[in-house]
Amino acid sequence: MVIRHYKTLMKQEFNAALTRKFFSKPYFWSSKDKKMIAVKAYGADDKDAALKEMTVKRRDLRDSDVHIDILYCGVCHSDIHAKNNDWGNAKYPIVPGHEIIGKVLEKGSGVTNFNVGDLVGVGCMVDSCQTCNACKDDLEQFCENGMTGTYNGKDRIGGADSAHTFGGYSTSIVVREEFVLTIPENLDTKAVAPLLCAGITTYSPLKHWNIKKGDKVGVVGLGGLGHMGIKFAHAMGAETVMITTSPDKAKDAKRLGADGVLISTNDGEIKQHTGSFDFILNTVPVSHDINPYLTLLKRDATMCMVGAIEPLKPMHGGNLILGRKSVAGSLIGGIKETQEMLDFCAEHDIVSDVEMINLDGINAAFDRVQNSDVKYRFVIDMQSFKS
Ligand SMILES: [Zn+2]
Ligand SMILES: [Zn+2]
Repeated sequence: MVIRHYKTLMKQEFNAALTRKFFSKPYFWSSKDKKMIAVKAYGADDKDAALKEMTVKRRDLRDSDVHIDILYCGVCHSDIHAKNNDWGNAKYPIVPGHEIIGKVLEKGSGVTNFNVGDLVGVGCMVDSCQTCNACKDDLEQFCENGMTGTYNGKDRIGGADSAHTFGGYSTSIVVREEFVLTIPENLDTKAVAPLLCAGITTYSPLKHWNIKKGDKVGVVGLGGLGHMGIKFAHAMGAETVMITTSPDKAKDAKRLGADGVLISTNDGEIKQHTGSFDFILNTVPVSHDINPYLTLLKRDATMCMVGAIEPLKPMHGGNLILGRKSVAGSLIGGIKETQEMLDFCAEHDIVSDVEMINLDGINAAFDRVQNSDVKYRFVIDMQSFKS
């Protein structure tokens, strides 16, 4: 199965090589028969190094590829984890960025869904095997053969020259069309960028657990993910409650769509809401004690973790057993669902709350994200980097 798949990939690459064409863009030759596209980017050479300007190579277009001129790119907490090698899989240089909005610059001969000039997006994935059970179920994020991350990933087809993927902190990117999204024209384009990670990460579990009018939904943590969770739960008609340790977040949570605010350090408030939630979306990005939140769930209800990819503090089994409760997790969403989320946003006029920066301010922005000092997502305006 794996060998057959590899052969298919090699055949695709061979076909793509046959149809390569010359373009008037800044290409250079990386070997005797391979053209590459040189693009300006910001990346890090090492986990302790600051991000700096560098040049990276994009592959020449294969039949099914779209070359995208990047207009905006969101700054995700994962970008910092990846750069710092917090997950132990970093390959340097790392060029982060997986909340990409841009316009189609050119396309391969086999591309049917996009035209030059289209407003498009790229999220956290740029490829998957397309044949496994997860991919067949439109859940490419759980591809059994490993999805290809937009950065710090390994190109499934290319050789050594194009094996390493680079993200959206750059002027352009080349992505196969199956992983390119159509961006609604009626939304504030720069504020759409964070929907491609923060948006789909919170939308997908709310849809999976069938959140609807009449449900009571809690959102734990008010950051890049949490503020989108509030907006989506509210738009789906749920009674939405911001669950936070800081009372000063109450006003903002209500502005974003929360019907109520629960201060989780206040025992009286916890008691008042005990056993009342149909679903809790936990967006806290670091290790913490989840036991107080489990007491808030109704019988048979679920708390879904979307933030902390690290060990959690010990959980008391009684908090699950007494009430048949569940703790679950969720990772972004498939391409089909990501497009559905974007269309939902267009219909309900939902975007992220953003603060714009230029790419040369990225290191300061990283510091502020780590201090939770952003409301609620930095987005890089790529224009100044190009000029
Ligand atoms: Zn992200
Ligand atoms: Zn797959």
